[in-house]
Amino acid sequence: MALQMIDKLEDKPWQDYANCLGVDPDLFFPERGASTREAKEVCRGCVVREDCLEYALDNGEKFGIWGGMSERERRRIRRQRAQARAAEQQSTVTA
Ligand code: SF4
Repeated sequence: MALQMIDKLEDKPWQDYANCLGVDPDLFFPERGASTREAKEVCRGCVVREDCLEYALDNGEKFGIWGGMSERERRRIRRQRAQARAAEQQSTVTA
């Protein structure tokens, strides 16, 4: 079953497997201060959550819920990755 799923995922773009297909897009772009809980619930069971998150990170998506994460949560990941890259570069310079 899992292998069949992987084959399927390789045949089609990840967006075709999004749990949010057919869900009101406004849910994923809540007004400032509004709840993100419902959108995150949809994302929780999404099989392409990681693809979605990486897409948003790669493309600098500044608004909305992507991969089950808010703008603030994605900013934190970008910051952590930038710090990790800087630390790695620093360690190769001093090695
Ligand atoms: S993680 Fe959420 S926003 Fe991304 S495709 Fe899945 S349901 Fe949609």
